Amino acid sequence: MAAAEDSEDRFAVLRRIMVEQVGLHARHVSGKTGRAAISGPVMEAMERVPRHAFVPVEMAPYAYLDSPLPIGCDKTISQPFIVALMTDLLEIGPGHRVLEIGTGLGYQTALLAELAAEVFTVEAIGELARSGRRRLTDRGYANVSFRIGDGSLGWPGQAPFDRIIVTAAPDLIPPALLQQLGPGGRMAVPAGLEEDQRLLLVARNAAGRFETQEILPVRFSRLMSGAEAADAQG
Ligand code: SAH
Repeated sequence: MAAAEDSEDRFAVLRRIMVEQVGLHARHVSGKTGRAAISGPVMEAMERVPRHAFVPVEMAPYAYLDSPLPIGCDKTISQPFIVALMTDLLEIGPGHRVLEIGTGLGYQTALLAELAAEVFTVEAIGELARSGRRRLTDRGYANVSFRIGDGSLGWPGQAPFDRIIVTAAPDLIPPALLQQLGPGGRMAVPAGLEEDQRLLLVARNAAGRFETQEILPVRFSRLMSGAEAADAQG
C-alpha cells in the first residue's frame, strides 16, 4: 500500500512537470495556433487525469513525457500537447455533449469527461474499446457512453453534438460528422493525406454554416473506414 501511494506521488510530480511543458509548448507555437495559452480548465483537467492509467503498464514510466506512446494494436496515444491543444480549441462548457471518435485507451476521453456534461465515444477496435472502457470505469467516470463501431459514421442516435473531436485522421472530414455537429458547434479534426495532415477547427454558426480554420501540421494514424473499420471490431 505504502509503495503504491509512493508511486502515485511520484506520478503526480511528473504530471505537474508535463503540464508545465505543455504550457511552454503552447506558448512557443502561439504564433501558429493563434492561442496564447491553453485555458485554465484544460490545464487543471490535465493535472487531475492520471495519464499513466491510460497507457499499457509497460509504458507507465514514460506516461508523463510530452510525447506520443504506443497503446497496442498498432495505435498511439497523441502527445499531451496535441491533446491539450485539441481540447482547448473545442472550448468545452460544463453543459456540453461531446462526441469523440477514437477512444483508444481513453486518456482523451477522461479529459473530455472532466470538462463536459456527457461524452459519447466510438472506437473501431474492440480490444482497445473494452480496455478503454474498463480504465475509465475503474477511475469512476460515469458520464461516458461507449460504442464499438465505425466512427466515421458518428453516433446518429445521439446527435446533434455541441462538440466533436476526432483522434485519427481521415483524408476528408466525414460528412456524417459535419451533419451531427449542432448549430454553434465546434469540431477538432486532423485531416489530409498521410504526409500532409492539418489539424482543423470547424465551427458551425447558428444558421448552420461551416467555417474551417487550419491550426497546425500534425501526424495522426489514419481513420479507418468502411470494411477496414468493420473488420477491426472483433
Ligand atoms: N484518443 C486515444 C488515442 C487515439 S489513437 C487516446 O487518448 O488514447 C486513434 C484511435 O482511433 C485508435 O484507437 C483507432 O483504433 C481509432 N480509430 C481509427 N479509425 C476509427 C474509426 N473509423 N472509428 C472509430 N475509431 C477509429
